[in-house]
Amino acid sequence: MKITSAEFVKSAVDSSQYPDSPLPEVAFVGRSNVGKSSLINALVGRKGLAKTSNTPGRTRLVNFFVINKALSFVDLPGYGYAKVPLSVKKGWQAMVDGYLEGRHNLRLVVMILDIRREPSEHDDMLIEWLRSRRIATVFVLTKADKFSRGRVTVARRQIGEHLGVPHDDLLPFSAKTRSGTNEIWRAIETACFPAA
Ligand code: GDP
Repeated sequence: MKITSAEFVKSAVDSSQYPDSPLPEVAFVGRSNVGKSSLINALVGRKGLAKTSNTPGRTRLVNFFVINKALSFVDLPGYGYAKVPLSVKKGWQAMVDGYLEGRHNLRLVVMILDIRREPSEHDDMLIEWLRSRRIATVFVLTKADKFSRGRVTVARRQIGEHLGVPHDDLLPFSAKTRSGTNEIWRAIETACFPAA
């Protein structure tokens, strides 16, 4: 997809603040520091569009972007910092569940995993939850540049087996080399514009 525009729309704490948009929406989820901001920025070719917060537990907002005036990207807060208090974890859960459950124009969830790590318990829980609600999901295995091609193939198979998802739904990606960008865009376009 050729990117002609990518704009930040707003940050929201709860559903009352979500933009009332008819555009098809793609949500990005993953544990903190997995590379979510880097992925979003690479997909749209804008370095600073999605910003990282280095303070665990601080980024508790749902951020909305509009791409090419044709679809929306939603950056959901990262999870998984062990040090975050339970009250904050519950807040995360409520915010993410609230978004994922109630958003009628949601077409695809892009779940980001580190290709070098086995999915965490929290990853597993979220995937199970998405599955139970039949929300279309693709899995991006990021930081693929850290592995040789052979190890990428092995990790893809192992993570696929762990998650019980078909090989085709696991997309290796590197924000460093941009490899995998076209495949991810293809998945997004298929989900957002099925007739195209
Ligand atoms: P976020 O917290 O999930 O938004 O993660 P960031 O996008 O801020 O990335 C966390 C760290 O991982 C940063 O130091 C990035 O430079 C690094 N990173 C992200 N994606 C990649 C990648 O594909 N390859 C490599 N080598 N590093 C990456």
